[in-house]
Amino acid sequence: MKSNKIVTIIILLGVLTGVIFTCNPKADVATGMISVLHTNDIHSQVLPVAKDKGRWSDYGGFSRIAHVVDSVRASRGEVLLLSCGDFCQGTPFFNFFGGKTEVDFMNKIGYTATTLGNHEFDNGMESLADMIRMSDFPYVVSNYDFSQTPLAGIVVPYHMINYKGVKVGLIGLTVDISTLVAKDNGKGAVYLDPVENAQRWTDTLRSRGADVVICMSHLGDKEYMGRVGDVELAAATSGIDVILGGHSHVDMIKVVKNKKGEDVTITQVASQGRLLGEVNIFMGGREE
Ligand SMILES: [Zn+2]
Repeated sequence: MKSNKIVTIIILLGVLTGVIFTCNPKADVATGMISVLHTNDIHSQVLPVAKDKGRWSDYGGFSRIAHVVDSVRASRGEVLLLSCGDFCQGTPFFNFFGGKTEVDFMNKIGYTATTLGNHEFDNGMESLADMIRMSDFPYVVSNYDFSQTPLAGIVVPYHMINYKGVKVGLIGLTVDISTLVAKDNGKGAVYLDPVENAQRWTDTLRSRGADVVICMSHLGDKEYMGRVGDVELAAATSGIDVILGGHSHVDMIKVVKNKKGEDVTITQVASQGRLLGEVNIFMGGREE
């Protein structure tokens, strides 16, 4: 399989509108397309946004996400469905049920994997560990040492999926929680450099045969208070094909050159499940 990959991105607005931003007409879809759907910062928006909330009223909610995911599955077959953190906190569902409602929906919709956002820590790590244990999907965080916490052994630094014969590697990056969550809720978690550890686990995945590496990031789209964001991460590493972002609540698509001069596509889809992102990666079909 050639290493060329062409990334097309469609953002599905609500349940109705699809917009294609980039597309290479020479792509040979038959050689293999990896269809990736992604969400970030759902913030416990189990129901749609309230009807008096202006521009985004009545958008979002897990039933809408389920509907769009199902319709994409109906046309494409298998898809990867990835979450980039902060699916918790923001509505009474989280206050009353501590994240279990969100996980229940994510299980039913069939998420493939998630990374952790800062708000997943809001009820402390014992509660988070309970959420993780009831999840049918892995939690991937590559830049933390959780060995001295209740998350030891249940959060993994990378994950590999066989997608129709293509090996897709996943890494995950979580923002520095030291100033974002109550001190006791992050006790024992050791934040590690995201660039160093993204590279470390990407290299591991590549050495184990990954054809594609996707990073689920909850760092934020760009540098903030001296902490790298997705743009700086992309430029400082190699081997990552796509960075699916979170934490900054922006809808963005950007292509950044990595340190070897190769394209890295970065995208993020707002918040509250108002948007569902779709990234299609075409394997080996480009005619140069
Ligand atoms: Zn966040």
